[in-house]
Amino acid sequence: MNSGNTEAKLWDFHGGVHPEQNKLQSTMESSAPARMPEKLILPLHQHIGAAAEPIVEVGDQVLKGQKIASADGYVSASVHAPTSGKVIDISEHPIPHPSGLSALSIVIETDGHDEWIEYRAEQDYTETNPSHLRNIIREAGVVGLGGAGFPSFIKLNPGSQKKIKTLILNGVECEPYITCDDMLMREDPQSIIAGARIMRHALQAEECVIAIEDNKPQAYESICHAAKGIAGLRVARVPTRYPQGSEKQLVQVITGKEVPSNGLAVSIGVVCHNVSTAAAIYRAIHLGQPLISRMVTITGAAVKRPRNLEVLFGTPIEELLQQCEVESKQIERLVMGGPMMGFALHDSSLPVIKTTNCIIAVTRKELGLEQAVMPCIRCGACADVCPVKLLPQQLYWHSRAKEFDKAQEYDLFDCIECGCCSYVCPSNIPLVQFYRFAKGAIWTQEQEQKKSDQARERHEFRQTRIEREKQEREAKRAKKKAPRAKKAAAPKAPPVDGAKMAEKMRDEAMSQRDSAVEARKAEIQAAVARVKAKKERATVQAGDATSITPAAPSKGDADKKNDSSSASDNNEQVQ
Ligand code: SF4
Ligand code: SF4
Repeated sequence: MNSGNTEAKLWDFHGGVHPEQNKLQSTMESSAPARMPEKLILPLHQHIGAAAEPIVEVGDQVLKGQKIASADGYVSASVHAPTSGKVIDISEHPIPHPSGLSALSIVIETDGHDEWIEYRAEQDYTETNPSHLRNIIREAGVVGLGGAGFPSFIKLNPGSQKKIKTLILNGVECEPYITCDDMLMREDPQSIIAGARIMRHALQAEECVIAIEDNKPQAYESICHAAKGIAGLRVARVPTRYPQGSEKQLVQVITGKEVPSNGLAVSIGVVCHNVSTAAAIYRAIHLGQPLISRMVTITGAAVKRPRNLEVLFGTPIEELLQQCEVESKQIERLVMGGPMMGFALHDSSLPVIKTTNCIIAVTRKELGLEQAVMPCIRCGACADVCPVKLLPQQLYWHSRAKEFDKAQEYDLFDCIECGCCSYVCPSNIPLVQFYRFAKGAIWTQEQEQKKSDQARERHEFRQTRIEREKQEREAKRAKKKAPRAKKAAAPKAPPVDGAKMAEKMRDEAMSQRDSAVEARKAEIQAAVARVKAKKERATVQAGDATSITPAAPSKGDADKKNDSSSASDNNEQVQ
């Protein structure tokens, strides 16, 4: 499959419009470098993802191409000094964004020497591992230059499981007024083709298709010439229709495949990059140069010399307007981007950033009379032109009524904000503004919900920690108390029953007393018995003495007699 094969089949997409082109004005003159300003204001958030982190301090001297802020996380992009000079400020500055908000920025006072830092180029990308190529592209701070600003290395990393069939280089540039890609394709096709080959290698894609609308014949010829003879690379000329440059629509036109709702092109084996991004990747790999500038279209009826300029990032827009001889008094509105998807700038001192592709200085005449907004007449014209096949009228009702749930049920987030619906609305309803408002409100609600969830999680975590610490303290206390508790838990004497004890003591006392009484009785009886026996013996002796006169006993006999009396007494007592 070689370049110049324009006969390959193309498919169609739903809807779309043909607004007035207004491209010729800015392509009459060759592009040129923008003048070096005295100061460059470099926001650290020029891309989709997290803002970069500054790695220089106020007072530092920096060289052209030197990294001054590092990517913070995976979805982020580094920022480099566009020229040599001195860092004079790091603080919040207004940035070109629909929100009108400020962002941390590094301000460099240029020294006019434009002195490059030492850099190293890859000798042969085909010998280089795709992962290493992606790292170089990441380090170079390359992001999508079609207007989205998504870090390019991520889109070059589909994952080892995904096979990429087609790499599409988007040179469609379908929005009116914008011609920066057109001029780059005309003037520097070699850089684009070299970048395409590197990207194809990094993705290991089967083929690369460079898509160009048929309103850019010079760009088409130029690219075809540069791509001639390169295997696996072809150029497709597609019919002009807005918004064909939108990724999903272009994928459908080139491959016939529809990217699923809420899905990515990579899921169907396709990756899409802008032609200017390809040129930036070529410079990063072949020349070792980071992304420090881009082509910007300066146009609009207030511009006397509309053209494309190669602009260093950080250059104040007013410097470009001066270089293009803008009649300031004629400016009714300053727009960044195209008339369909761009947004108004409130200050011309804002800097050019990586996503700035076009500045339109619009006059009152060009703007036309402000058309009065009328009620919706339910004509359905908006649905006819919607390239995503949405129901813009329903989205409008629900967004206006702040019924965000219902708006999401109608696939609000599939809306690519192309503006086709507003463009054809006979009631002049600024439909896209309502969708942007609804998306912003939903996003804010989700952020608040996220914050509230995080706060709740933190609170629950704290409670859990407090409870755990309490349990730990109690466990320690219990451990200390264990020996005492053991002691206390030893078996104790049964409790004294007072009543039983008293009864027992009384019984013992009574028993002792009874014993004493019995003993006393026995003593008395014994004594009574002895007395009685004595009396009896005395009576017997008296009777004997009156009837017989016994021989006078000898002393020995008397003693014996006494002894036998005693014995007799004793015997009686025992009996
Ligand atoms: S084009 Fe306008 S008027 Fe017609 S249905 Fe849509 S919103 Fe209503
Ligand atoms: S702005 Fe959204 S709703 Fe309107 S036509 Fe484009 S994609 Fe459809």
